[in-house]
Amino acid sequence: MKALQITSPGQVEVVERPLPKLAGEEFLLRVNFVGMCGTDLSSYLGKNPLVSYPRVLGHEVSATVVEAPGTDPTFAPGTNVTVSPYLGCGRCPACLRNRANACQFNQTLGVQRDGAMTKLIGMGSDKLYAAPGLTAIELALVEPLTIGFHAAQRGRIEAEDVVAVFGCGGVGVGAIFAAAQRGAMVIAVDIEDKKLQLARACGATHAIHSNNEPLHERLMEMTNGRGPDVVVEAIGSAPTFRAAVEEVAFTGRVVYIGYAKDLVPYETRLFVQKELDILGSRNAIPQDFHRVIAALQKTPLPVDQVVSTVVPMEEAGEALREWSAHPSRFQKILVQINDAD
Ligand SMILES: [Zn+2]
Ligand SMILES: [Zn+2]
Repeated sequence: MKALQITSPGQVEVVERPLPKLAGEEFLLRVNFVGMCGTDLSSYLGKNPLVSYPRVLGHEVSATVVEAPGTDPTFAPGTNVTVSPYLGCGRCPACLRNRANACQFNQTLGVQRDGAMTKLIGMGSDKLYAAPGLTAIELALVEPLTIGFHAAQRGRIEAEDVVAVFGCGGVGVGAIFAAAQRGAMVIAVDIEDKKLQLARACGATHAIHSNNEPLHERLMEMTNGRGPDVVVEAIGSAPTFRAAVEEVAFTGRVVYIGYAKDLVPYETRLFVQKELDILGSRNAIPQDFHRVIAALQKTPLPVDQVVSTVVPMEEAGEALREWSAHPSRFQKILVQINDAD
């Protein structure tokens, strides 16, 4: 069967792979769509230290059950599903605390092990999520949204909060959608009008174009001089890492989803003086998948704005090349693997 493989950094090929060998309780899935995110782009560029080559990409999965090991009707053949791509070790401190999303030895599909950009895959029922009412394309958007939903949970975002989200890419948009679903007032911050427009469509009521407007002054105006109760950093650059602790309100929460490649010099006085909760947020847990699915069932997203393009497997390499040359041109690239029902 065909699979999309990164053979070495910069080299993408459609290759033949053997059919999956199912372990005892695994379901056979036919893959319909797979999304690509920043992780895939950095794997393609050879900038992801977690990835070894050759590697089949794909961790944002929309699929249909083809064969089931038992008679449980939840995932009967024909059911459309999405997939949690994380595999915890079960033994590290994070796994033992029921936080396998931050497993010390986590393996993600398409990163540390071969992913879903292939016709058929095998998965255990603990990794499957059915989502009645969602389209095959929406199913591919669930996993990327869970990242922002997990961040909203980490930040304990509630209806009374004013939340500023720095960065309105795939991850930031998830945090905006999650915060809006929780009833918070959401301020989206980005340097591109198109992304701010999408942020509004996902629930942000305020937007700051931080290249054209002074971030601090605008945040102060919007929060009656207090600063946002929660800042979610979804960019991963040193200046925005710093701005998060500088702009957040006293006793506020800062949630970091991205990470900066450079060392970040901080005014540590602010940590103490503001008595901040500074939280990291990594991947997602099963509850996040259930929350995203429930949110999408209630409030559909503007899929035509979220998904920039849908390409067949044969054109995915070209799409990655274009994306790396023009990072701001794409919000989300979907690869169509099989024709969905
Ligand atoms: Zn992703
Ligand atoms: Zn673990």
